[in-house]
Amino acid sequence: MPLNDKLGRPLRDLRISVTDRCNFRCEYCMPKEIFGRDYEFLPRADLLTFEEITRLARILAEQGIRKIRLTGGEPLLRSDVEILVEMLAQIPGLELAMTTNASLLSRKAQALRNAGLDRITVSLDALDEATFKRMNDVDFPVQRVLDGIRAATEVGFSPIKINMVVKRGINDGDILSTARYFHGSGHILRFIEFMDVGATNGWRMDDVVPAKEILAIINAEMPIEPLEQNYRGEVANRWRYRDGGGEIGLISSVTQPFCSDCTRLRLSPRGELYTCLFGVTGHDLRPLLRGRASDEELADQIAAIWHPRGDRYSEIRSSETASLPKVEMSYIGG
Ligand code: SAM
Ligand code: SF4
Ligand code: SF4
Repeated sequence: MPLNDKLGRPLRDLRISVTDRCNFRCEYCMPKEIFGRDYEFLPRADLLTFEEITRLARILAEQGIRKIRLTGGEPLLRSDVEILVEMLAQIPGLELAMTTNASLLSRKAQALRNAGLDRITVSLDALDEATFKRMNDVDFPVQRVLDGIRAATEVGFSPIKINMVVKRGINDGDILSTARYFHGSGHILRFIEFMDVGATNGWRMDDVVPAKEILAIINAEMPIEPLEQNYRGEVANRWRYRDGGGEIGLISSVTQPFCSDCTRLRLSPRGELYTCLFGVTGHDLRPLLRGRASDEELADQIAAIWHPRGDRYSEIRSSETASLPKVEMSYIGG
């Protein structure tokens, strides 16, 4: 029996943030002014061990989790993350995915594939060098991300999803060129509306480019038509090019919220569960994990967290809620 929350949404997906650190400073996620030299990241000893993560994943799989996404921060910065992948891949019936900025993907792709990773999503906000560097804010070149995508393709990841967060006045001029670049490539480009995650990215509704506008820009040059959802709770609306050039996705969390189908639970690097990306506090499982709690006790605790869940932040978002305190996305993962 799936574990349902108060609004009838089953527990299906788990996002595991394996580190709060990142080597990029994307202004919409970890702005330099806040996450600069003096910012205190978690000490290593505070991170859940691979054994602790795998134990929780196993218990959650028994409670209905079918898909795990490793994220962060930048998941490839967690040492030996492929060992964690290998451990998670032993759990039957799970699809294993990762979202990465691809800065280290050329080096890691083969090891991740060998370890049993099923899918990979790469974030890439612009193909124009100056725009991309402005967005990652650490002078990281586009070509190294493209090299990472190529390496992942060569070891057999397919299709690769490419995430592009669109911010008005910053990279909306890159929508069409990025669409053209990935048209016919076999990769699925997904446009994400800029969200008010965390409390540091200075979000304003005026900076959001609505999915409808993005679709119109693409459709004007490369006609598209809608596709059916793959499964309940899929975050992206799917479209395909009428000329057979493949598929794109639109993640319109701001203008068309999808909370009513949200089946995602998030695990922080140090063992807190968050039932919403826009949560304020998590439910700390460490006392149980590091105490002598049995698997049954942990399972009961997880059920007690999921059952009363009534989160629907994106449906009630306003300029007032945008400035309320929230957990940072780099801490609990995208
Ligand atoms: N570092 C990895 C990466 O960037 O792919 C994984 C973590 S990142 C938090 C996960 C995803 O969240 C990325 O695709 C990123 O672009 C997206 N993201 C971060 N901040 C966002 C925001 N304010 N609005 C929309 N998407 C955001
Ligand atoms: Fe790092 Fe990903 Fe956040 Fe960019 S979006 S700062 S790459 S965690
Ligand atoms: Fe799920 Fe919260 Fe996002 Fe709604 S706002 S889709 S409940 S994570």
